[in-house]
Amino acid sequence: MSNSDDLARIDEISSALESVRTRLSQACSAAGRSMSDVALLPVTKFFPASDAKILYDLGVREFGESREQEAVAKVADFGSTERVDEPVRWHMIGRLQRNKARSVAQWAHSIHSVDSARLVDALGRAAVDVLSDGGRTEPLRALVQVSLDADPSRGGVPVADVGVLADRIAATEGLEFAGLMAVPPLGSDPDVQFDILRRTHDAVLRTHPGAVELSAGMTGDLEAAVRHGSTCVRVGTALLGSRQVIST
Ligand SMILES: *Cc1c(COP(=O)(O)O)cnc(C)c1O
Repeated sequence: MSNSDDLARIDEISSALESVRTRLSQACSAAGRSMSDVALLPVTKFFPASDAKILYDLGVREFGESREQEAVAKVADFGSTERVDEPVRWHMIGRLQRNKARSVAQWAHSIHSVDSARLVDALGRAAVDVLSDGGRTEPLRALVQVSLDADPSRGGVPVADVGVLADRIAATEGLEFAGLMAVPPLGSDPDVQFDILRRTHDAVLRTHPGAVELSAGMTGDLEAAVRHGSTCVRVGTALLGSRQVIST
């Protein structure tokens, strides 16, 4: 990239970040909530580490990634830059295969997309190993991904299975059960979906009062998510632009 391209990208991302922060603050006041109760998690998937660095320079310290291989490369690339002196936290928000658990335990602060007992066990073993060899200092925060339409191909567990998986995470060494996450089915009414999610979360909080995180809301539906108790909106498109469609 030439220097002027760099500057144009900085301008673009900086004004997008400002608009998203304004949007989030309006959503919070409309819902009678404090802006400090809802974290903005910029999603950098499909975009280069240089974009994450621009966000970093604008004050962002947490990033979401959804594809394991891409994330490992980006985290390394990002970490090798001289401009990074404060620690950042990377969140895994996409579907994960068990054989990638060890890698994720090395780079992720949190994983939002836990959806099977076998994945819980693999993540726990991996986190314990990485904790003992000094590769991380805190347990891996794990959120259960809820499937609101019970379509297993999109990831997540049906509402009825959330409690059992939550108990399993809470009982697993190396993990900290942090809360719930969901992505409403395409074409659904987000208010209806996030209301189901909130009620599911309320039920979980009765047995796991510390699991306060509710990761809900993206570019298209963050206002609805904030109305229904989201504590973390994961925003990609509104910050970095449209992702190229890459077939996998
Ligand atoms: C890509 C992604 C996002 C960001 O979506 P946008 O619509 O681009 O804001 C949020 N959550 C998950 C799980 C994602 O995979």
